[in-house]
Formats: sequence, C-alpha cells, structure tokens
Amino acid sequence: MEKEECIFCKIIKKQIPCDMVYEDDKVIAFNDISPEAPVHVIIIPRQHINNVNSLNQDEAELIGHIFMVAKKIVKTLGIDETGYRIVSNSGKQGGQTVEHLHFHLLGGRMLKWPPG
Ligand code: AMP
Ligand code: ZN
Repeated sequence: MEKEECIFCKIIKKQIPCDMVYEDDKVIAFNDISPEAPVHVIIIPRQHINNVNSLNQDEAELIGHIFMVAKKIVKTLGIDETGYRIVSNSGKQGGQTVEHLHFHLLGGRMLKWPPG
C-alpha cells in the first residue's frame, strides 16, 4: 500500500530525488534534506506504514531488517565505534512530520540527551 501524497513514497517511486545511501528490495536509506548532525540518514520501508501505531506482527521482521541495514550503514560511514542514535518519531508530540514510518540515524558528533 502506498499513499499518493506521501513524500517518502514519492522518493521510493523516484518522483522526488534523494541522496541515496542504501537500497534493497525492502528498504531505502537517504541523507536527510535538513541534517541535524554530520551523519543524518533516514531509513524507511518501501511499504507505506504510517508510524509505530500501524505496525502489524507480520512487519516485525521488516523492523529487524531495518536495524540490520542501520548496522551496515554505520559501519560504512565509520561511526560504528564512535556511536550514533536511531530514533523514530511517532505522532504530534513525538515530533513526526512525515507520516511514513522512518528511522533517523544520527551521528558524527556528540549528541545531547535528553532530546528537547
Ligand atoms: P520527522 O520529523 O521525524 O517526521 O522526520 C522527517 C524527516 O524527513 C525530517 O528530518 C526532514 O528533514 C526529512 N525530510 C523531509 N523531506 C525530505 C526529503 N525530500 N528528502 C530527505 N529528507 C527529507
Ligand atoms: Zn509513504
């Protein structure tokens, strides 16, 4: 399922360009257009899922796969040892602005905690 107006579905369909970092048959990863850190990659499933609320049990493997992809990317970008953060914002108070499940992969600098 995909949403006509979803910006990330448009990236997947190559209707909008992106700075691709990784792709396979299940997920794509690209550099965030407005990076908050030297490394700021967005990892998304090709399948349109709104956010964590809409996850089904049969998508559990897909979420596991996303983390395996994150592991590959941090190694490739050389931040596996220095550290990084993987974040998925859900809903208004979670700060979600794009309603297509995505994981921010942030690194390359000392990250503050807790987030604002
Ligand atoms: P969130 O605010 O958690 O929903 O994250 C959405 C992220 O997508 C933000 O960090 C945006 O900068 C990023 N973003 C929005 N449009 C694009 C785009 N066309 N290409 C790359 N990143 C984008
Ligand atoms: Zn979508």
